[in-house]
Amino acid sequence: MDRPSFLLGVLAASCAATSAAGAAGAPPATVADLAIANRVLAHENVVDGFGHISARDPQNPNRYWLARSMAPALVTEADVMTYDLDSNALNANGRVSYLERFIHGAIYKVRPDVQSVVHAHTASVIPFGVSSAALQPIYHMASFLGTNVPVFEIRDAAGPASDMLIRTPALGDALARTLGSANVALMRGHGMVAVGTSIPEAVFRAYYTGMDAQLESEALRLGTPRFLNAAEAQASSETNAALVDRSWQLWKRAVIQ
Ligand code: MN
Repeated sequence: MDRPSFLLGVLAASCAATSAAGAAGAPPATVADLAIANRVLAHENVVDGFGHISARDPQNPNRYWLARSMAPALVTEADVMTYDLDSNALNANGRVSYLERFIHGAIYKVRPDVQSVVHAHTASVIPFGVSSAALQPIYHMASFLGTNVPVFEIRDAAGPASDMLIRTPALGDALARTLGSANVALMRGHGMVAVGTSIPEAVFRAYYTGMDAQLESEALRLGTPRFLNAAEAQASSETNAALVDRSWQLWKRAVIQ
């Protein structure tokens, strides 16, 4: 076995173990919760008119749910469509798909642990995708970032004249490779992806990635930040994984219709 295949096998085995642990703690995703999550992300300013969140279909891991192309704040259950992992819509009925749906299918293909994916252009994270300053966990709420947040450079996959969008399966695959086993990847000059073992966890990670970036920018102006180290990030992340539902209950109360 060549080394990349071996590493992929290790990753898949590790992800399967994580998936079993994650699935035990969270109820299965529902279309209703995905619609609510769209509105939460908009209400909390993680997304604006753009950006999206998907969820893997708990009844069929080779499918995922994603709203039709529209502003997340306006999504209801009736707007949610089903896709296969090549990001073909299975029940479009005339509805238009997001150009960047390939982000979602490509990640679900290689990350069996991932049950939900957020893509956002959150303003506070943009500086960390374009400068030498690395996004790191400035506080415990963002400990899931770990100490090495990957940055996707679209020029490496699409050349020097793309429109910056993940608009093909190949670009989705390239982004998923950059994400690797991480929970968050930045996209240079564009935004980020955040993944979770549940819809609430993906929302939590997207929200606190934005908060972390904002706080790190402030700390960098004051001096040299002291970040969580790898051991602190790991221990804190394990603690917080059990507390995600507290934020979810708070956030969804504001957007339930
Ligand atoms: Mn985008």
